[in-house]
Amino acid sequence: MAKVLCVLYDDPVGGYPESYPRDGVPGLSSYPGGQTVPSPRALDFVPGQLLGSVSGELGLRRFLEAAGHELVVTSDKEGPESVFDRELADAEVVISQPFWPAYLTAERIARAPKLKLAVTAGIGSDHVDLEAAVGAGITVAEVTYSNSISVAEHVVMMILSLVRNYLPSHDWVVKGGWNIADCVARSYDVEGMTVGTVAAGRIGLAVLRRLAPFDVDLHYTDRHRLPEETERELGLTFHGSAAAMVPVCDVVTVNAPLHPETEHLFDDDLIGTMKRGAYLVNTARAKICDRDAVVRALESGRLAGYAGDVWFPQPAPADHPWRTMPNEGMTPHISGSSLSAQARYAAGTREILECFFEGRPIRDEYLIVEGGRLAGTGAHSYSPGNATGGAVS
Ligand code: NDP
Repeated sequence: MAKVLCVLYDDPVGGYPESYPRDGVPGLSSYPGGQTVPSPRALDFVPGQLLGSVSGELGLRRFLEAAGHELVVTSDKEGPESVFDRELADAEVVISQPFWPAYLTAERIARAPKLKLAVTAGIGSDHVDLEAAVGAGITVAEVTYSNSISVAEHVVMMILSLVRNYLPSHDWVVKGGWNIADCVARSYDVEGMTVGTVAAGRIGLAVLRRLAPFDVDLHYTDRHRLPEETERELGLTFHGSAAAMVPVCDVVTVNAPLHPETEHLFDDDLIGTMKRGAYLVNTARAKICDRDAVVRALESGRLAGYAGDVWFPQPAPADHPWRTMPNEGMTPHISGSSLSAQARYAAGTREILECFFEGRPIRDEYLIVEGGRLAGTGAHSYSPGNATGGAVS
């Protein structure tokens, strides 16, 4: 019987919720494009519950223990003394979420001889050293599409809140003020602006679709061009590279995976080509942007605002400069972990585990690495090599 090691974020400071603001979440039957939602044999949770924190256990305990497996759940994941490091030695399966990633470095993989499966409960497996996983014959799988629309909604929210100066204006209300001039001296309409996305995959395209009704001029760059009818329908302008696109944009949103082609793409040079007063929203991966170049651009006014929910490392240290830089609209990594998204990726995680333990194939669209090579979605979205090495550096 297998040991399943699950690394999840901490429960709320006030304790695990006893009730929720709403009585459930809407059920979906499929995603845009027709991919079906996760379909495990059964669920041991009520959709809408907090599943991504330690006490939520992704709703997996009853199912795993009934099959005779051991489930270890912890949030303690950093350093050689951590529960994660200790339990990894004889774990067969590791599960973690990008919001609270269990960094699976080559060194950790070498110390986990029994490890056969690393599941990302969510999307984005760059916290795993994919090359090391390839070398060790570990299967890496994620729950493709489970939270793509959740992130797209967050991106639209962040674009609007930066451009309209929402967060500082809200702060004036909380402080008891009525400082309209202070609020509006940095507030614009999105209407008429040029908005570009770096990557138009599931999230990027969903962002474009959601922004189209705002009467903006939409641009994109991607490794592959979208179908002509999609370009026509949304009035999209394609650019062959980010370098070609960003100089014409008022707002740029980043929706590409982190891999060698995208690591530190937004450095001083590229940001220096953006319009003065442009906005940059990055909910993809922090290391796609050079941390200090972003701070410098906000301080100089090259960027009028930066927002996102991805940091490096995660959790971000208390003195991370993105907590205190001017005109930021940061959140912790939450966009893909709404209660709605949790219900889908917890179900997808269970589906992957059912397949793994029953010797059935895992859906191709969930596969990142299998059989010693990039596979399924991984073969399409990632390139050989590894941007993070799954490490905290
Ligand atoms: P998809 O695989 O659907 O889309 C990724 C797109 O990026 C693909 O169209 C791909 O191109 C494109 N791409 C890859 N490399 C480049 C490049 N160098 N330049 C331009 N485009 C490139 O993934 P999703 O849209 O679902 O997710 C995107 C990323 O968002 C994830 O990898 C993850 O890092 C992040 N994410 C963040 C979440 C959060 O909570 N903040 C949650 C979920 C995801 P093509 O396929 O055409 O080759």
